[in-house]
Amino acid sequence: MQSHTERVIPATLIAGDGIGPEIVEATVIVLHALRAPFAWETHKAGMSGVEAFGDPLPQATLDSIRRTRLALKGPLTTPAGSGYRSANVRLREEFHLYANVRPARTLVPGGRYENVDLVLVRENLEGFYIGFEHYIPIDDDPHAVAIGSGINSRAGCRRIAEFAFEYAARNGRKKVTIVHKANILKMLTGLFLETAREVGQRYEGRVQMDERIVDACAMQLVLNPWQFDVIVTTNLFGDILSDEMAGLVGGLGMAPAANIGVDAAIFEAVHGSAPDLAGKGVANPLALLLAAAMMLDHIDRSELAHQLRKAINQTLNEDQVRTGDLGGKASTKEFAQAIVRRL
Ligand code: NAD
Repeated sequence: MQSHTERVIPATLIAGDGIGPEIVEATVIVLHALRAPFAWETHKAGMSGVEAFGDPLPQATLDSIRRTRLALKGPLTTPAGSGYRSANVRLREEFHLYANVRPARTLVPGGRYENVDLVLVRENLEGFYIGFEHYIPIDDDPHAVAIGSGINSRAGCRRIAEFAFEYAARNGRKKVTIVHKANILKMLTGLFLETAREVGQRYEGRVQMDERIVDACAMQLVLNPWQFDVIVTTNLFGDILSDEMAGLVGGLGMAPAANIGVDAAIFEAVHGSAPDLAGKGVANPLALLLAAAMMLDHIDRSELAHQLRKAINQTLNEDQVRTGDLGGKASTKEFAQAIVRRL
């Protein structure tokens, strides 16, 4: 049998757009110092895919992920309005990445909230993200009316609810809160609520079940985030609430995400390509580093994930090395180098 130290794991690496190449480079430097076992296959996606191959999701990138079933990805720019469909959404669909896991934990004490430790499990393939939209022209206005539909399936709701309750049970979490808007979207999110409740009942005695309407949940997260543990919700609500939760622990710079599916797992930061910071060398690589720690957990190298999280904590709180968004002065590279010193 091969020992852990001998085993090399092929993984796809996508630098992405905007600040992507800078934070990916910083993360790869840290993973190298950690002796993480990844053998990177480097590929393009997003606007850099368009520039190189005329496609935000070039075939070579898809083929690589199909082979490795594992990817670390920088943010991809999606031009708003017209043009290309989001390469992120296409990636999730292509590899059936149905669960988006977004933890929000306090890493730097002294912020608005102490000791926040939440995990949001967002359904990643259905709801309003399916892109069933059209305009109805009236008179000379081609966009007089806009219509968008959402789709939730019982199978999709069951799968994400099972993922959330199973995640809670395996990770020693006490409670799963089902977040919905079934008072208004009675069918679309009513089906989600009904199905998630059925799944939750199977975990009785192991994981508590709770539920909230999304607007109340948004407010209660601000008033008292400690009342929540794991939250499971539909695609659009999950997108919004996970950014809110990132805000509770210091902002998007600290929020990692795992997209887990049947055919692959893709790890990334919650934030986007931050065009306002691109090329300046000041972006915070922390969210992507935390995503890399989730990737290490995913390949059963939790001891490396633990080492990485510990070094991050020491760098932030003992060495007081931080990037500008966290009130520090370190550049992206300096922050990565400080973590490497701790490793
Ligand atoms: P954004 O997350 O890129 O930026 C929002 C704000 O947060 C900006 O002020 C930015 O400077 C700041 N910020 C983000 N990441 C940071 C970091 N690592 N360090 C310090 N500050 C950081 O959101 P946006 O401006 O709405 O989107 C820009 C582009 O990114 C869009 O094209 C959008 O579609 C795309 N996007 C991609 C993903 C993804 O690939 N997963 C996610 C969200 C947005």
